[in-house]
Amino acid sequence: MSSELILEETLTKRSQQKKRTSPLNYKERLFVLTKSSLAYYDRKAEKKFRRGLIELSLIRCVEIVRSNGELIPCHNKYPFQVVHDTNILYIFAPNHDSRTIWVQRLKEEIKDNPSVLAKFHPQFWQEGSWLCCRQMEKQAPGCEKYNPYGDITRKPLPPVPGESKDRMRPQSSLPPCPDGEQGGDEGEQEVVTEKKEEVVVALYDFPGAEPHDLRLVKGLEYVILEKCDINWYKARNKYGEEGYIPSNYITEKKLGNLMQFVWYSKHVNRNKAEELLRKEDKEGAFIVRDSSNPETYTISVYAKSLHTGDGGAAIKHYRIKKTQESPPQFYLAEKHLFSSIPELIDYHKHNAAGLVARLRYPVGKSAPSTAGFSYEKWEINPRELTFMKELGSGQFGVVRLGKWRAQHKVAIKAIREGAMFEEDFIEEAKVMMKLSHPKLVQLYGLCSQQRPIYIVTEFMELGCLLNFLRQRCGGFNIGSLLSICLDVSEGMEHLEANGFIHRDLAARNCLVSDTMVVKVSDFGMTRYVLDNMYTSSSSAKFCVKWSPPEVFHFCTFSSMSDVWSYGVVMWEVFTEGQMPFEQQLNHEVVTLVTRGHRLHRPKMAPPFIYDIMQKCWHKKPEERPSFSQICVMIADALEGDLTD
Ligand code: ADP
Repeated sequence: MSSELILEETLTKRSQQKKRTSPLNYKERLFVLTKSSLAYYDRKAEKKFRRGLIELSLIRCVEIVRSNGELIPCHNKYPFQVVHDTNILYIFAPNHDSRTIWVQRLKEEIKDNPSVLAKFHPQFWQEGSWLCCRQMEKQAPGCEKYNPYGDITRKPLPPVPGESKDRMRPQSSLPPCPDGEQGGDEGEQEVVTEKKEEVVVALYDFPGAEPHDLRLVKGLEYVILEKCDINWYKARNKYGEEGYIPSNYITEKKLGNLMQFVWYSKHVNRNKAEELLRKEDKEGAFIVRDSSNPETYTISVYAKSLHTGDGGAAIKHYRIKKTQESPPQFYLAEKHLFSSIPELIDYHKHNAAGLVARLRYPVGKSAPSTAGFSYEKWEINPRELTFMKELGSGQFGVVRLGKWRAQHKVAIKAIREGAMFEEDFIEEAKVMMKLSHPKLVQLYGLCSQQRPIYIVTEFMELGCLLNFLRQRCGGFNIGSLLSICLDVSEGMEHLEANGFIHRDLAARNCLVSDTMVVKVSDFGMTRYVLDNMYTSSSSAKFCVKWSPPEVFHFCTFSSMSDVWSYGVVMWEVFTEGQMPFEQQLNHEVVTLVTRGHRLHRPKMAPPFIYDIMQKCWHKKPEERPSFSQICVMIADALEGDLTD
């Protein structure tokens, strides 16, 4: 009974010992399945030498191996696995049907074994880790539920790329089944295409705020299960745990996606790179960033006085060049060519090879704000807030620095009684929270169940832009001023793209982060101001000096009226915080502007920059540039002034 033959076929076996995926480790063997064992033989002429035998009672799992396109260096392309004791045997069948039969028969024989696994690994153990879940312990528990019964009705898996459908049909070499049943389906087979999983890499740690969130660990991989909205995705980690993650904390795992590397910062211009490197102040600190030329990259490197000899630090910018051939090679100096940018960076980590310093410290990206603390969470428990120093006070009330859950720094605005149309604002806040962009001050949520209500936002260390400009007056160059303008235009471009009108754009409503990134704040908030004096265009409190004629005459707000205000912000920036129309009263400004008079050219603004301001102050709203056009103009101005 125990030697009763069930199946016999020549299959390929992967060596269990060797680590490398070399063709030498794949051997053809005659596999023989009986009621008691699975044995494999080396055929030498007519003789059979037994090379191995596994008792069926020791087998814990038999399943196909899902291969994700990895190289299988042998003729047979249909892998399955036999987990026995603490070992795994990988066997490769010549076609789909052969594999199905082997897996199914083996499953039937072992299903009542006491040691059958609850979970298994659906992909290979390769080069020291599980390809399915990236666990690095060979004995790590499986990451997918094991089905001991198999599924005879299961649709065939998609063909291996490059293989014809014919190869999926049973081959004549397949041994006949003992009960006379012919394996495989001779008819046309429906080929279903498995949806390819979207694998991403975490760019930053995300601790997860609520039980339904999934913790992210920088550098680890996750599978995206659902894109719930633009800011939050549902994902699965290597242990099979699922939950919500912020979409701006991950990047696609793809060859050539530089976002995966700590040293790459996409949206850092030359000026910002210099600021960041100076702040880091380390020999060999570096950033790889997008160059002003499209699809080109620049390495910015910081070297201390040792190398410059003049007592100061030097920052050098090197453009990564590409050869003309396809695929291109990358280089800084022609004698060192690399097939990818990461390889080039790796080389220069160890060899200065002409650079002012070798690349030692990547200046990291800091984690951006998330759109709220968790998916669909806008109400914040006030007991989770602690209050620290006062930051300032404005139209709505006092703003304080605080902490959420004792660690996350936030700004908390306590709304003074009678200052706001609260109900309307609470409704709108849900929309505002979804406005998430690196150049917009993030709204995290509200404490709306109490009075005063609290508005909780991203904390901006260096306070409002107007004071920042005034306090550092004389310390800016054209590049740093343009960089501020670019930040504001990028934030506004995002509002414009989402059909959101700011209505009160001014330097006082922009804030500055610790890394000197400028972000737009208080967008749309004037709609909820209860004070008539502030909202009526004829009142002294109305911000006439930032408003175009169609606003101060007819209260017609639009993205185009925001563009006018943006021109005034540019003027504030290039005067390092002066008051526009300082000598004039509001009604005088109305008369002057209506007659076509405009703010003068600031001394620090070259004509081509003043030209952008004047375009924003076109009498006809439709003739003004859009924010996306402004972004291009400012980026061009930055490039023109400061070529890499
Ligand atoms: P309001 O909207 O009530 O007029 P503001 O938003 O102008 O109030 O805030 C008043 C002041 O508080 C600002 O000028 C700034 O100095 C400080 N402040 C406001 N929000 C923040 C923040 N998120 N981070 C740091 N400081 C802030």
